[in-house]
Amino acid sequence: MKQNSFGLSESNLHEECGILAVLNPVSKESNSIEGLSDAARSVFYGLFALQHRGQEAAGIAVCNGNRIHLFKKPGLVSNIFTESDIEKLQGLSAIGHTRYSTTGSSSTNIQPFYIETAHGPIALAHNGNLVNAAALRQDLLNKGIGLSYTSDTEVMIMMLAAEQGNSWQERIASCMKKWQGAFSIALLTNEGIFVARDPWGFRPLCVGKVQNGITVAASESCALITLGCTDSIEVEAGEILKLTDDGIEHCMQIAKQEQASCIFEFIYFARPDTVWNKACVHTARVNFGKELAKIAPVDADIVIAVPDSSRSSAIGYSQESGIPYDEGFSKNRYIGRTFIQPTQKLREQGVAMKFNILGDAVKNKKIVVVDDSIVRGTTMGPLIKMLKNAGAKEVHIRISAPPVRYSCYMGVDMGSEEKLIAHNKSPEEIRKHIGADSLAYLPQEKMLLAMKNSGSCSKYCCACFDGKYPIDIGKASKKTDFE
Ligand code: SF4
Repeated sequence: MKQNSFGLSESNLHEECGILAVLNPVSKESNSIEGLSDAARSVFYGLFALQHRGQEAAGIAVCNGNRIHLFKKPGLVSNIFTESDIEKLQGLSAIGHTRYSTTGSSSTNIQPFYIETAHGPIALAHNGNLVNAAALRQDLLNKGIGLSYTSDTEVMIMMLAAEQGNSWQERIASCMKKWQGAFSIALLTNEGIFVARDPWGFRPLCVGKVQNGITVAASESCALITLGCTDSIEVEAGEILKLTDDGIEHCMQIAKQEQASCIFEFIYFARPDTVWNKACVHTARVNFGKELAKIAPVDADIVIAVPDSSRSSAIGYSQESGIPYDEGFSKNRYIGRTFIQPTQKLREQGVAMKFNILGDAVKNKKIVVVDDSIVRGTTMGPLIKMLKNAGAKEVHIRISAPPVRYSCYMGVDMGSEEKLIAHNKSPEEIRKHIGADSLAYLPQEKMLLAMKNSGSCSKYCCACFDGKYPIDIGKASKKTDFE
C-alpha cells in the first residue's frame, strides 16, 4: 500500500477521475498569445472544479491545429501548473484530466495519453475502467503493438490508433463496441474534440456552450458552471459527440445496454452542486437522509455529519426527524482522504489528525452521526471513541446507503472484498466492532426511491451493494495486474 509524505496510507473509497475539454472556435482572436492559451487556461480552471475526483495527478493536452503539446505531473492541480506552463500550452482546443488511478500505478500512468497516428496526433482522457482491458492488451501485444505503460487508457489510445475507419468517429465507434466497462472519454484530434460515454452510462459526462462560441465538456456539470456555461446537456450513454468550431455535433449513437449509472456518484463522489440524470446531487443526498430518518428513527438531541460528503444527508435526516442539525466535527481540509493504516493506534492518530471534536456541541448529548458509507470500518470506530471521550452520552450511526459488500470493477477503487467490513460481517457485528450504540443503513429500495423523489428515473448500478454486476466481470483485472 502506498504511503504519502505524512506516513498516511490510502485505504478508503477513492474517486475515479475527472475529464475536461474546451474548444475555442478558429474565428476567435487566434493570433494573440492570450487567445491561443485560452483553451489550456479554461481547462486549468475547470480541473479545479473536478479536483475532488482525483488528487494524485493531472495533465493538459492542447492542439494547435497540427501538433499536440502535453504537460502532466503528479500532484494537485494548483501545484502542477505555473503561469508559464499554461502560456506554453498554445492551441485552440485542449483536454485535461485529474487522476486517481484505477488501473495501473499512479506515477507512470498520468493522463492525458498522447500519440502520433497515421491520421494525425491524438490525446485521450478517460474516466472509468475497462473490465476486459487484460484481453484487449494481450490482443495488441499479439499484433506486435508495443505498450509502455500499465493503464487501460494506453490500451484504448493504441486501439484507436490502430483501428480501421474513414474518420475518428468511425474508429471511436468500432473501439467502443470492443470496450467492456466504464468509460467517459475526451479525444483531442486536429479535427476537433470527440467525447463519448460507454453504452451502460456508468460515468457522467456533459457538454455545453460558453460565450463566443466556445464549447466545453466535463465529467460533472459543476465544472461547466465554473467555466461560465449556463446550459449544459448530458452526453447520452453510447453517444459520440464532437466539439467543433460550429458548436456541438452529434456524431453517432452506439446501441445502448441496460442503463447502469453509478449510484455512488450520488452517494459520495460527485460535488453537491452537480446535476446528473436530472437529479441534483445535494437534493438526492437530502432525500437519502429523509428516507433514513423514516426507517431508522432514534431518540437523540442533535444530528451531525461526518464532513463533507455526508452533510446533505445529515440535513435530510434532521429535516425529517425534527432533531436539530449541528456541526460535531472540525475537519482539517489539508490532509486529504487518507488515514494511517498499519495499527489501531496509528489509525486513531490518523483520524485525530483529520478530525477534531466540537466539544461544546456534543457534550452530554445523544447524537446521530450520519455518514455515507462504512467501507473498511477503520475510521468510524475512532470517530465514535473521540465523540464519547468528548462527553457524548450516546452515538447512533446512520449510513445513507446500503452496506458496501462487493468490489467495484467499473472505476472505483474499493480494494478487495475481504477488506470490506460488510462483506463478512452483519450490521450488528459491525456495530459492535465500531462501538456504536446503534447502527442502521439505508436499504437499497429506499435509496432508489430517494433518487426518484429527486427527479431521476434512471436505472442505477448497485453492484457494490447487491453483487449484481451489469457486465460480466469474470475476466476483470485488478488495479495493478499490468505492473
Ligand atoms: Fe458505482 Fe458501486 Fe456500480 Fe462501482 S459497483 S459502478 S461504485 S455502483
